[in-house]
Parts: sequence; C-alpha cells; structure tokens
Amino acid sequence: MIIYNSLEEFNSIKHNLPKLSFVPTMGNLHEGHASLIDIAKKTGNEVVSTIYVNSLQFNDKNDFINYPKTLDMDIELLDKKGCNHLILPDSSILDNIKSIKAPIKSMKLCGAHRPGHFDGVLTILNRLFEIINPHSVVFGKKDYQQFLLVKDFIDEKKLNINIIGANTIRNNNGLALSSRNILLTEKDKLIASTLYKTLKDVEKNKAYLNSEYLKTKLDYLKSSGFKVDYLMSCDTESLEESYNINNNDLLIAVAAHLGSVRLIDNLVISKL
Ligand code: AMP
Repeated sequence: MIIYNSLEEFNSIKHNLPKLSFVPTMGNLHEGHASLIDIAKKTGNEVVSTIYVNSLQFNDKNDFINYPKTLDMDIELLDKKGCNHLILPDSSILDNIKSIKAPIKSMKLCGAHRPGHFDGVLTILNRLFEIINPHSVVFGKKDYQQFLLVKDFIDEKKLNINIIGANTIRNNNGLALSSRNILLTEKDKLIASTLYKTLKDVEKNKAYLNSEYLKTKLDYLKSSGFKVDYLMSCDTESLEESYNINNNDLLIAVAAHLGSVRLIDNLVISKL
C-alpha cells in the first residue's frame, strides 16, 4: 500500500493510476470499514482510502477532540485487506475549499440535531472527489442519511461516480460497529445493543406501526438509560416521517446518547 501524506502528494502521481474505488474514513478502523474495502476490491479497481477526521462535520468540540485515533493499527488493517493507496490529507485540504450547502433533506434526522454536519461532510467529500476522481465510492448504510445525501449529491452534480451502499456490520449482540464504541464500557456496550433490538422489535411488529407505538419504544430506550435524539419511521428517499408500511418500505432510524457517546443505527423494513 502506498501512503500519501497530503492530497497534493497524491494529486501529483494520480495520472499514472488505473480506475479507482474509493473508501473515505475517519480512521479508528474496524470490521465495518474492512467490509467496505472488501466491497471496493470486488469492483476490480485499485482501492484508495482516506483517513481524515473532518473538523467541519463536528458540531461538538469535545466529540472532535475525543475522536479515537489509531493510525498505526489502521494502516496495518488496510494493508492486510489489500487497499492499494492510503491518503492522509493534511490541513491544506481546507485551503480555499469550496463550501457545499447540503439540501433540505440534511435538516432531518441527524441533521436536525447536528447543525451544519452534512454541509461539512459534503464539503470535504466534494474536495476528495475532485482530487481522487474515483470510478466508484463505497459508503456504509449505518450512516443512512449520509449515504442518501452523497447519492443525491452525485446525481445532482452529474458526477461520473458509481456509489455502492454497504450493509451494517454488527457485533454478536447486534450492536453496530462504530469507532465511538471504543469509548463505551463493556456494560454500556450491552445497553447499546438495545438500539438494534428495538429496531428488530419494530420490524417484527410492523403491522402495528404508528407514532404511538414508536413512542412506547422511545420511552423504553429512555428508561434503559439513553438520551434519545430521535427514533423515527420515515420514507427511505425523502426521509419524511411516514408510517405507510402497506405501500412502501420504511426506514426506522435512531440516534441516542449513552453517557458522552452518540450512537446511531437504522433498519429498512419491507412493506407488508
Ligand atoms: P467513519 O470512519 O465513521 O467516517 O466511517 C467511514 C465509512 O464506514 C462510512 O461510509 C460508514 O458508513 C462506514 N461504516 C462505519 N461503521 C460501519 C459498520 N458498522 N458497518 C458498515 N459500514 C460502516
């Protein structure tokens, strides 16, 4: 694996490279990230990954400061997985950067609780897309709203990029793997797995889905120790609140804090 310590370094050699599949990350890599590299490898392209903790997408300064950093282990994992190129953008990525304003969909779900978050995500991704010029990009559907906004951004800007969504990788208790899980105690990890159990419960009872039913689940999460940002049932494309499971698949999405750690998860449930 070739490592580039800035976007400029990569930019100066990129004309020699074949088609690329791109996996953007913020580091502290786990099996979820590894699965994205596997998917990128399957495209047959060379694989390029980035590790960049994007300050623009953090609205909580402490969350940014505490974001786990494990660069040596990350490099080892990427190398083992057969990633061909790793870019470690330095702060010059922000020089003269063009700010991107995320569309209205970004104000729902996580965006309603993290003002400016998706503007920051799209601003950095736009820059990375410009420099890397990937044939394909792989995003995890754990961050469903991010996946959707990037898909829309690629469509709207008519970028010639194929976007691939990857399923969520979980631990044995169903907890979605996340870099932030490292900040949870073992006891908290068990509590955290209630999020997925709740989503599965909603799926099991989808015939009875309505706002009152979801409220009982929300109350249950609160009583289990979570500070819940949202538990919502929505249209999988518009992200508008919806309970119309007779005609459409629905996205059940949750974001909740356990102590100082913010967790998200979701499940797409199929129509009746
Ligand atoms: P992050 O490093 O958190 O910015 O995540 C980088 C990419 O990995 C994003 O596309 C995430 O959606 C994806 N990802 C994070 N956790 C998981 C997981 N548990 N399963 C699959 N993909 C994931």
